[in-house]
Amino acid sequence: MFSREEIIEILNKPAEEIFTLADKIRQEQVGNEVHLRGLIEFSNICKRQCKYCGLRCENKGISRYRMTPDEIILCARNAAEAGYKTVVLQSGEDEYYSRDILCKIISEIKKLNIAVTLSVGEKSFEDYQAYRESGADRYLLRIETTDRNLYQRMHPGADINNRIRCLENLRELGYEVGTGCLVGLPGQTLESLADDILFFKEINADMIGIGPLIPHPDTPLKNCNAGSLKIALKVIAITRIMLGNINIPATTAMETLDPDGRMLALKSGANVIMPNVTPVIYKDKYEIYPNKISFSENASQSRQFVEEILKKAGRSIANDYGFRKR
Ligand code: SAH
Repeated sequence: MFSREEIIEILNKPAEEIFTLADKIRQEQVGNEVHLRGLIEFSNICKRQCKYCGLRCENKGISRYRMTPDEIILCARNAAEAGYKTVVLQSGEDEYYSRDILCKIISEIKKLNIAVTLSVGEKSFEDYQAYRESGADRYLLRIETTDRNLYQRMHPGADINNRIRCLENLRELGYEVGTGCLVGLPGQTLESLADDILFFKEINADMIGIGPLIPHPDTPLKNCNAGSLKIALKVIAITRIMLGNINIPATTAMETLDPDGRMLALKSGANVIMPNVTPVIYKDKYEIYPNKISFSENASQSRQFVEEILKKAGRSIANDYGFRKR
């Protein structure tokens, strides 16, 4: 296990051997299968002001949409029919979807016999409890950064303690818990990235999503540099080595930054891909960052496409629900 100092050193210097080691550990711990999760981006309306995100409420430059419950359920059904064993319901923090509405959507989707992951932001314990009782299996809520000052600068009006409270509630309620960080926030240090990794370990997260920052032209971070792909890959590799059997997606942001990004992530410890299955009429509007890559027009096409790429890399698509291997 790496100490904080060792992690910083790996992040700081060329360290190709870390990728080989992470790939070996990935193979030993979770095998060659890649889990596909169908991502449904069901609303881009958001009450928050995260400085990096194109969905922030102050961005007047995007056209906002909300999928109806029926549209969301139909989208999940199409994904299930295309072979997906998990859908991820993601949105901005949109209060239109009350506890009752979301619970109804979850319980309808659960009838399709697939796992449901939620990624809808910070909610109350009671909300999380109700979603869980309706059948939600997993929850994604990135901590984004554990550097308290940086967190505060990036998230006006938000409180990192509440985000941590959310992660604790989710764990207590028996969700598989996913968190993660952005790489390349302005003012972020390698030390703080090392602390992020130690935080993932400390809370024993089941899933970790790591992605480079991609500056959005209609946000306060428009003039910032993009995050470094190399450092993001190293954070993935070290996380795999330190957390063993967890699930780690090769994120879309990696591929948006570099055409090989997703494949490189799969060779550096990642074992999950989240193809976008949002209906085409909405997909382009979910612009958390510009030029978001997506595989194809529909759920079954994108699945075939992913299968072909994976085959070339000697990996196969998993057929189970893709819970953490214990
Ligand atoms: N509202 C939900 C979902 C947020 S979008 C929540 O709060 O969890 C999912 C992730 O996209 C975020 O957690 C963030 O890490 C990432 N993201 C947002 N803007 C980004 C950008 N400009 N570049 C790269 N990743 C970004």
